[in-house]
Amino acid sequence: MTDHSIPGGLRPVLFISERDAIVCPQCGGYATHLNVVEVSNEVSSARVVASGEDDRSRINISIGPGGGGRRHTVRLVIDCEEQWCRTIIDLRQHKGDTEWHRTDLKVENDEDFGR
Ligand SMILES: [Zn+2]
Repeated sequence: MTDHSIPGGLRPVLFISERDAIVCPQCGGYATHLNVVEVSNEVSSARVVASGEDDRSRINISIGPGGGGRRHTVRLVIDCEEQWCRTIIDLRQHKGDTEWHRTDLKVENDEDFGR
């Protein structure tokens, strides 16, 4: 297994199990689902929802030109069955940096999963 450790003082974006699976950053649960991916820039966005077992695995997304150059965001919505967690990870291009922001939420019930 590859050593993905990082130098001191830096924080991980995601937590990865010994099986290389994403672990819920809120409760440590293993039953996580990457159900929604959103791509946006300052003027447009596209949302992709994987809602069933038979959905295609390849999805191409094209959004219009942004108003401010490369200021685009990729949002990952990860739901966790174990404690009804929803974790939103935003990766935003801003000038020469890729900024990271995490929002922790709770899902009310299983009907809200992936929405
Ligand atoms: Zn969780």
